[in-house]
Formats: sequence, C-alpha cells, structure tokens
Amino acid sequence: MSVTFDSFALSEPIQRALRDRNYTVPSPIQEQTIHLVLEGHDVMGCAQTGTGKTAAFALPILQHLSKHPRERMRMCPRVLVLAPTRELASQIQASFKSYGAYLPFQSTVVFGGVGQNPQVQALQRGPEIVVATPGRLLDLLQQGKVNFRQLEILVIDEADRMLDMGFIHDVRRIIALLPTKRQSLFFSATMPQAIIDLAGSILKNPKHVEVTPPATTVEKIDQTVCHVGMADKRTLLHHLLKGRKEGLALVFSGTKHGANRLAEQLSKSGMPADAIHGNKSQGARERALENFRSGRTRILVATDIAARGIDVKGIDLVINYDLPKEPESYVHRIGRTARAGAEGRAISLCDEQSQSLLRQIERTIRTSVPVDRSHPFHREPLSTDARNAPPQQGGGRRGGGGGGQRQGQSRNGGRRREAASSR
Ligand code: AMP
Repeated sequence: MSVTFDSFALSEPIQRALRDRNYTVPSPIQEQTIHLVLEGHDVMGCAQTGTGKTAAFALPILQHLSKHPRERMRMCPRVLVLAPTRELASQIQASFKSYGAYLPFQSTVVFGGVGQNPQVQALQRGPEIVVATPGRLLDLLQQGKVNFRQLEILVIDEADRMLDMGFIHDVRRIIALLPTKRQSLFFSATMPQAIIDLAGSILKNPKHVEVTPPATTVEKIDQTVCHVGMADKRTLLHHLLKGRKEGLALVFSGTKHGANRLAEQLSKSGMPADAIHGNKSQGARERALENFRSGRTRILVATDIAARGIDVKGIDLVINYDLPKEPESYVHRIGRTARAGAEGRAISLCDEQSQSLLRQIERTIRTSVPVDRSHPFHREPLSTDARNAPPQQGGGRRGGGGGGQRQGQSRNGGRRREAASSR
C-alpha cells in the first residue's frame, strides 16, 4: 500500500508547491512523521539528512500555521528550528520558502559569522518561522532582539551534531527561555545516551519514528576500500580523481588543515578543488558550495562538520581520504552520494594506522567493505589486521558492492519503531 501526499489532507497551496517540486510519494520518514505532527504530538525522529526529513516537519508546520492564522508580531516567531550549521539552517529555510511558496508566511535564518544587523531587521519584520544556529540566536535573545513568548512549535534538527559541536549548552539555555506549552520535534541521526537524555528533557510523551540509514542508504552505495601506505595516499587520491569527466566528488579530510592542503594540491595538478570547513568565512563556504553545486568546481574537500547537511545533487563519488574517527560518521559521509535514489560510489583510503577504524565501521554498518586491490598502490594490511579483518568480498575487483551477499546486514526499510533504541 503506497501512501500519497493526498492522505495528509494538506492545504491546496502546500499541495501546489509539492506538485511544483514533483513530489508525489512521501518518503518513509514523511509517511511516519507528518500525521503525528498534524495531530499535535511531540516527535522524536531518528533520521539523517537525505531522507526527506525537512519536509517531514516543514509541511505539517506550514499546515498548522495556515489552519491557525494569527497576526504577525514583530520579533515574536511562532516556529523555531535549531540546526547545527549555517549551511543546514539555510537549506531548511530554503525548504520552508519553497514548500510555503503559495502561503503568506515569512521565514528568516539566523547564524553567526556574519553581521547581525540584517538578521535583526529581518526579525523585526515578524517572520512566523525562524531557523537558527544556537550561538547567534542566544546572542540575539540576550540582547532582546527576539523573544519566544508566542512560540508554538520548536524543532531541533541534527541534535547529535549539536552535541558533537559543543552546542548543547546553548541549546539548553535557549529552551529554558521558551514557553513550556509548545509542540516539540526532535531529530537526530544517531541516538547515543546523551541525546536520549536531552530529548527526554525537551519532549512530552513523544512518538518515536525511525528510518535506519545503514540499511537503507548504505545499501545503494557501491563501497570499496583501498589499502594504501600513508606515503602513497595523496598520489592514490589523484589517481582516483584524474580523468573524471563528469559528476561531483566529495573528499573527506580528518582536519581543516588537511582539507586546505588537499584542495590546493589537487588544484595545482589541474583538478580544480575547493575546501570547506569551520575555519572558512561564511562567504567562502557559501561560494565553495555554490561552485560545487553548479559544477564549476567538481571536487570539494570537506571536514565532517562542514559537510553535514550538504544537500547537493549529483555527487556520484565520495572519497574518505581519512577514515572518520566515529564509525557513524561513515554513514553520514557516504550518504552524501546516492541521494534520492541515484547511484553512488564511496571509496575509503585505509592506511596502516586506520585498520581498527575500518573494523569499527564495518561493525557499525554490519557488512565488510569490499577491498579494491586493482589500484597501483595496493598494500596488504599488516598480518594481525588481516587476521582480524572480516571476510572480504569482491576482493580484487573494484565495485564489488553490487555483488550482493552482504554479511549479516539487516534490511529495515525504514518502518516505524515505537521505542528509542540506543545504538
Ligand atoms: P532532506 O532529508 O530534507 O534534506 O531531503 C533530501 C532531498 O530529498 C531534498 O533534495 C529534497 O528536496 C528531496 N525530497 C524530500 N522529500 C521528497 C519527496 N517526497 N519526493 C521527492 N524528493 C523529496
């Protein structure tokens, strides 16, 4: 039985906006979440960007606003969305604008790293919806430039990333200033205990929804790992990227400095690349993203934090130049490709020191990543690692990911779970 957007009885202007975007079938997170939000429940959602999560909360919020019209009030938004990064906040606001194109509501985005005056002026116009990163919003709250007396709905997006980035304290301080009578929606890609505790302090009798990225997203991605000596990593990266005529490649570096260096070296070798990370100015990040999105620069080197929330269509290759320290980041990283049903490849470079990280990743995704031995820099992992390594599939072939037998992988097509699971 396939659900359509009609079953949510969204107002005609919202349906028209969905038609404009050619959305016909709700994604699993939308199917599970929209009716709960419309019914006024608090929701705790386990889902990552790329699953259609933004529409899952934005559509019912717009519906709520249209069903309960109220006069616009200066500096008193009705909806607050907190997001960890400027890019994600901007993307969420763009989604509200797009889904609300035929509705009279205003939205604005608030984030640090740029002058505050234009944001203050925008708040004074009384937008119904404010999308914000926590630090700047707290600043503005403390200066009395915005207040949440009239707040009806709070959304916290990518809560686990807020925790990683050290924003939780700010988030708690903001929440302490919100009316207790409100609807709260809380989304996180992972549910470690600290996140469950945070959600517990924010939500009232929440309904739990979950779409599991390892089984849904990762399966579509053709993953390989290249074992390589540290000294050959850079040359291997160039080898992998050289000669690509189309498609966008996202390369992950473990450090900001490393990201800069890789982008410079690639550019010098005739493969124009930009770097994006937390030390770049807002303008530079936006320019880099825009160049990437438009295909002017087809290689973007990013750190985890900067890449989180990047929603760029056309990324057909993700390269983990450095393996992530947290195994769950692997899923987020490679999930930048194979968006909205497209095919994608993910290649991880694994040097001598990263064997144990690879094993942790394989445990997390519950499958072994096929080894590509066909590249010129292949180096067998050390014997202890080889002994401990999970059985390899598709060895000697690139792209064994399509080969089928993926050990122990469960396929949970993103159905609802009524209990928060801690992974
Ligand atoms: P999100 O997880 O909200 O970042 O959404 C990921 C991508 O999927 C975005 O490009 C959305 O525009 C797109 N999208 C979201 N919902 C749908 C849908 N029901 N049908 C088609 N595309 C969608």
